[in-house]
Amino acid sequence: MSALIDNLINDNLVPLKPYESARRLFSGGQDWLNANESPYANEYSVDSSNFNRYPSCQPEAVVSGYADYAGLDKSQLIVTRGADEGIELLIRTFCTPGKDNILICPPTYGMYAISAETCDVGIKKVPLNDDFSLNVNAVCAEDDVNVIFICAPNNPTGTPVAREDIKTVLSHFADKALVVVDEAYFEFDAENTWANEINNYPNLVVLRTLSKAFALAGLRCGFTLAQAPIIQALLKVIAPYPIPEPVAQIAAKALSAESLTLLELQVATLNREKETLAEALQALDGIELVGDRKANFVLFRYEKAPALMQYLVSQGMLIRDQSKQLNLHNCLRVSIGTEEQNQRLMQLINEFKNNEDAA
Ligand SMILES: *Cc1c(COP(=O)(O)O)cnc(C)c1O
Repeated sequence: MSALIDNLINDNLVPLKPYESARRLFSGGQDWLNANESPYANEYSVDSSNFNRYPSCQPEAVVSGYADYAGLDKSQLIVTRGADEGIELLIRTFCTPGKDNILICPPTYGMYAISAETCDVGIKKVPLNDDFSLNVNAVCAEDDVNVIFICAPNNPTGTPVAREDIKTVLSHFADKALVVVDEAYFEFDAENTWANEINNYPNLVVLRTLSKAFALAGLRCGFTLAQAPIIQALLKVIAPYPIPEPVAQIAAKALSAESLTLLELQVATLNREKETLAEALQALDGIELVGDRKANFVLFRYEKAPALMQYLVSQGMLIRDQSKQLNLHNCLRVSIGTEEQNQRLMQLINEFKNNEDAA
């Protein structure tokens, strides 16, 4: 950086690096099984007749469509530029920079910590137990936190979070902190949601997205669900025009009855493919499945993970290295693709192992 930039930049940003998203790490490749996207690209069209106008801040068709989908009142949600913007809004709205803290439970989704760091908000870490369950006592022992992020099912372990555990945390922090349950993958384990408990807990927040099961990662559209006072506070901070008009049109269509039927079919197919892939991986010597499979990915441990990763990348098969995450040494995460992609992945892993075993 130049002397001018070194001099001007916000002090707390100095140690940070741009986020290494799956898409930034590798731009080429042919099979993208590294960002938990859907392999399906469903078709949409847009109507440009209002593109000369600023869009609505909270497009009515999207708000009411998602409220129906989640079984909530329209006053109980806010539409954002992906769930990632919801995470940042929660931190900016409920944490004072240089003073307050969030709490996270690693290994987990990276954006909670990154958003906190860019906002100069502190991060308390309470690692998950060895079986990736929540360390409830340790979480409840933290008294100086404003927002607690619980990812359920958790990315990258695919594990569910026991309802009793979340209930204990919600009650313990009833007058002290918001408890955010990140349900980015809820459609893959749909019985297990906290959206229907919003009316019972004034400190409960649920995050949702159109990026995973809805197959619209490119759209950038997510939802934060909570009781109206929380939503009202978030509306103070969100930009005036966060949802572009084409995004609003497509999101509304994605929430139609017809699209939801298609979503269910695609989720069922992906869940079946996930089990097939998991069985094939598990059958291989030296490969051990890690965590659980409540989302649209499989996590596994393999002693030669770095070399395998390198081989797959050289073949245009992109998966995600999770080995730097706490307790995930030598772990790789594979998003579920089409049947063909999953088969190609297994073929490449088998090739790699046969060469290794022969060497
Ligand atoms: C993918 C993901 C998100 C981000 O969703 P966007 O709507 O694409 O911003 C949030 N939380 C978790 C746990 C995720 O895996």
